[in-house]
Amino acid sequence: MPPDLAAWATPDRWNLHSRPVPRPLDTVTSIDVYDFDNTLFLSPSPNPALFDQTTIGRLQVPDVFSAGGWWHNECTLRELGRGFDDEIKRQWRGYWNEAVAAEVARSVADPGTLTILLTGRGRARFGSIVEAMVNSRAMAFDMLVLKPTELGLSTLNYKNKFMETTILACPGLRNVRMFEDRGYHVREFNVALARLQKDFSRRHGQPFQYSVRLIKAEAAMLDPARELRMVQRMVREQNDRASRDAGGAALATVSLAPDTQSVAFSVAEESRQALLDLALAQRAGDGSPLPFISLLNVGLRTAENTLTVIAAFNKARAAGHEPAAVTEFAVVAAGLYADAYYAVRIQPDVAEDAGWTTWTDFVNPVVLVAANVGAAECARLSLNPRSCAISRETEAKVAAALQPVAGPRVRVVCTSRSRWRLDLGARKQRRKKK
Ligand SMILES: [Mg+2]
Repeated sequence: MPPDLAAWATPDRWNLHSRPVPRPLDTVTSIDVYDFDNTLFLSPSPNPALFDQTTIGRLQVPDVFSAGGWWHNECTLRELGRGFDDEIKRQWRGYWNEAVAAEVARSVADPGTLTILLTGRGRARFGSIVEAMVNSRAMAFDMLVLKPTELGLSTLNYKNKFMETTILACPGLRNVRMFEDRGYHVREFNVALARLQKDFSRRHGQPFQYSVRLIKAEAAMLDPARELRMVQRMVREQNDRASRDAGGAALATVSLAPDTQSVAFSVAEESRQALLDLALAQRAGDGSPLPFISLLNVGLRTAENTLTVIAAFNKARAAGHEPAAVTEFAVVAAGLYADAYYAVRIQPDVAEDAGWTTWTDFVNPVVLVAANVGAAECARLSLNPRSCAISRETEAKVAAALQPVAGPRVRVVCTSRSRWRLDLGARKQRRKKK
């Protein structure tokens, strides 16, 4: 059923608290309309370092979470920066798009201009929040217009409806400017304004000029720990609602789990010297100065197929087996190949294995400790130690040169990078407009 807009036929009604517009509409010659999120204010978006791309989309569309998702969640503004109360006191310094804020100041200073903040944020939920935010910065908008969600209009349709009501109510209008960060909305506003311009001419005898300016602004980020807690809360609340849902078929359940993107293993800093000492002992006898350089970034090469390691890693985690960050290994073999490469083979301590073999497909890896690459190369490589990687072929030759040895214990660090992924339950989703 189309929404009943009969009660929304005047600009006053759309203004926050249905407050009268503070200037006579027949004196208005210009209307300047500012979008809020990522146009005037650098609102936070989901953090791509925390969530994968699919999840970022699912958090923001309005039909995954029945409460509306990211843009309907007050916590995105309440928990930004130092928290709402502190940020109000510091006027949200650093979170405004200053170029647009300067435009607002110019609009406000012009007596013929009606200056309007027009946002798709819900009026009931965000009215007092957005009002407090612009007041903290003393931005004297003539109108604060937020979306009456009870009308069930999409943000675009609601904004166009408001623009029509307001433009047609200002008979002396000559100029309309809109500021907006979404390209799709910019295009649609241009279409709607062209149509309105014709209606306006017919009604008031002259057209108005209009422009819609596309604004590019960098989104802010929430504190990652806070952001994760907030999204976990959204998930819990959605699942609570889904379980209470009488029909049981309208609301989807959702789940949020870490998804491993990469796994890397390296010898811990404190163990590197022990390995170098072993290298020195191997070379003892000829008295020549040690031509080796330490490979500053002693990494352990994992399987040919990194995805296999990641899959095993995820499986171990799903089974509740969180891989240990540090595992102890014993040096079981050492050797020098071609008087150029010094390497050791290490073996996990069975007692402390902590699932090592569960999430890797190599058990006794070879660690290249040092390489004789000459003084000039040393100087170069010390600037860029990561370039010390050797080929698979050389690595196999180095491995073949190893002799059994009872060496020191070394600590191996496992570093994994994960992003959280939101999956949807099997039940049908309810469709809802943003
Ligand atoms: Mg926006």
